[in-house]
Parts: sequence; structure tokens; C-alpha cells
Amino acid sequence: MSTQQPRVERADFDRVMVPNYAPASFVPVRGLGSRVWDQAGRELVDLAGGIAVNGLGHCHPALVAALTEQAGKLWHMSNVFTNEPALRLAGKLVDATFAERVFFANSGAEANEAALKLARKVARDRFGDDKYEIISTINSFHGRTVFTVNVAGQPKYSEDFGPRPEGITHVPYNDIAAMEAAISDKTCAVILELIQGESGVLPADPAWVQRVRELCDKHDALLIFDEVQTGVGRTGKLFAYEHYGVIPDVLTAAKSLGGGFPVSAMLTHERWAGHLTAGTHGTTFGGNPLACAVGEAVLDIINTPQTLAGVTEREALLRRKLQELADQYGIFSEVRGQGLLLGAVLAEPWQGRAAEFLAAAEAAGVLVLMAGPNVIRFAPSLIVEPEDINEGLQRFAVAVQRLCEG
Ligand SMILES: *Cc1c(COP(=O)(O)O)cnc(C)c1O
Repeated sequence: MSTQQPRVERADFDRVMVPNYAPASFVPVRGLGSRVWDQAGRELVDLAGGIAVNGLGHCHPALVAALTEQAGKLWHMSNVFTNEPALRLAGKLVDATFAERVFFANSGAEANEAALKLARKVARDRFGDDKYEIISTINSFHGRTVFTVNVAGQPKYSEDFGPRPEGITHVPYNDIAAMEAAISDKTCAVILELIQGESGVLPADPAWVQRVRELCDKHDALLIFDEVQTGVGRTGKLFAYEHYGVIPDVLTAAKSLGGGFPVSAMLTHERWAGHLTAGTHGTTFGGNPLACAVGEAVLDIINTPQTLAGVTEREALLRRKLQELADQYGIFSEVRGQGLLLGAVLAEPWQGRAAEFLAAAEAAGVLVLMAGPNVIRFAPSLIVEPEDINEGLQRFAVAVQRLCEG
């Protein structure tokens, strides 16, 4: 079958694709666990995990089984009907979290869009037209729709796309005084990441998160945790809010939830969910049976004491290996983050050169990520074999040595 399909290669990207991405020079064709192979049969260790998506690595047998079983049963019916996988996955998310209600979508941006619309609707229903302000943090990332990109605090992603939606304020992350000054009775929501993933793997300060919760309560604003990157086991708890002991009003999850299949969820309390009455919001694909069947299989494996404890064990190994590299080459000033979302911050002489590290790593046979120009980000499978961490870091060390030798 595949022999009848036309041969394609990386060069075709520049011919047929919109150039909004600049993909690597090779084309991956197969993955298993934490290894991937390109068209030429070259094997790479994957410590990037599809940007914190492949929480169970590539082609996990339980996910392949869930997907193929559902593929032979029912793919799509629209939200004119409900379906068994969606009801099961929602039930399991409710059982495992603070939430009582779930809304499914297809991406992180859409889950956040739903959360922000919910907050606007709740505020309008309860307090009228003047309570619509959203507070977000500088350098945050919440997705690429026009609304979420404006809510996020990185102007470079939003400035080219016309007039900004009204009522959005950005405050410095982890700054209690700035949040106190910005919030008011006109605020309908505060949205924040518990680790700012895209902009440097920067963890939230617990005292700040606690204070934001108090301020939201005082001003009847909903607190939204964007756990698109930190959620579904990534930090060693099912959701990162569990580390903080702070309960949000709304939580969004996506990336790891489908283990590579597009699915996202907005979780909330019954009392807020009730404001999105029939017809007020929707999506064609959200909650479709294929996506939810995979999500259910993902959750069944990740939400177990063994998998979650395994994340913390792997974190310790990865941190030890990164510290060894830092000691030997003086390239990192700090390793931050939690669980298997770690950022190695480049030391002074290397700042701004994360992209070079990525290229050198790839040439040495290991995939890692960046999080801004100064941070090398690691977001491997939550069940990555310790052997793959060792091998991956050995290859990364080769890359570092080549860079250091200039
Ligand atoms: C990736 C990410 C998003 C956007 O998710 P998409 O699926 O790309 O829309 C939103 N918020 C955070 C914190 C993310 O890391």
C-alpha cells in the first residue's frame, strides 16, 4: 500500500506547506517508547515527548489497542448525541480531581477559550455587563487563537493580528503586589500556568498562587489554571495544583491527555458549569469517541501511584545527569521545573544559544526542546526507560562537548 504513495521528503515542506513552522531537517516516520526513527532509518532518543504530549511514549500498546478497538466501533456522531468513551473519561476526570463537570475540546487553545468564555458568562450572569476583565501574566502562553494569544502575555505572538480584544491585563508572574493592584470587582477571571512552560519552565511561587486564590475569592473572579502543559501526570501528580493545595475554579488540560491524539478538557465546578446552558458554547469534534477512548486509556495508566511515583524517580535521575553536565562543562546556571518538565537554564556565556544546543543534540541523536532562547527543556515520556534517559543524556553530552570545542 505504502509503495503506491508518492515519495515525500523534508524539501517538500517548503513547497506545499505554509511556512509558519521551521521543522528539523529529517522526517520522523516511526516511534516506539522513547525512540524514533527517520526516513533514513536513523534512530533518535526522544526526550522532547512531542512537546509534553506523548506522556506514554510512542505507540504504547494500550493506546494502540484503545484507538484501534474504538476505530472499529464508532468514530464520530457530533454533540447531537453523547457517547460512551466521553462519559467514561469525564467520569474518571471528575473522580480524580476537584471538578464536577467536564467540557471536551480538541486543543489547549480551545479548552482555554472555553474557560475564558465561561468566566465571562458567569460574571455577566451574576453581576452584569461591566465585569469582564481578564488578568493574565507576562510571558504566559495560552494558545494561538486570536483571543487566547491576546490573553497570553507575549506580544510578539499577537501584535500582527489586528485590534486587541478589550479587557485583558497582564501582570508580572509571581508578583503579589502587581496582582493586588490589578484585580478589582471588574475582574471576571485570572488565568495562570503553575509552571510557565513555553517561556522558560518557570514555576509559580506557592505564596503567590495562594494570594491569587484569596484575591479571586474577594473579587468574585474565577481562578483558571492552564494545566495544558503541567497536567496529566507531568509534574508527578495528576495535576500540578495538587502540589500547591490551591483549588481553581476552572482547569484546562490538553497535551498529555490524549498521549498524541488531539483531545482537551475544561474541568470546573457544577456551580460554574451551569452557566454554559444548552447552546451557549460548542465544538464539532470535541468529545468525539475516538479521542475520548484514547484519553481514557491514557488516564487509566497515568493516574496510578506507580506511574506518578515513577515520574518523580525519573526526575531525580534526569536532574542528576543534568547536574553532572553542569558541573563538567559549566553550561547551566540552574535546573528548574518539576517532575518531567525540566528546564536547564543556560549559564551566562551560553545565553541566547538554546537553538544551537537543539541542533547539536539532534546531530548527536537526541531530541530535546527549548523554552525561549536561554532554556533547554526536557519533557520526555512519563514512563521513559531509565536506560533511555542515560543514553539520551550521553548523546546530549556529546553535543555539549562539540559546542564547547567550538
Ligand atoms: C501548548 C499550550 C497551550 C496551547 O495548546 P494547543 O493545543 O497548541 O492549542 C496552551 N497553554 C499552555 C500552557 C500550553 O503549554
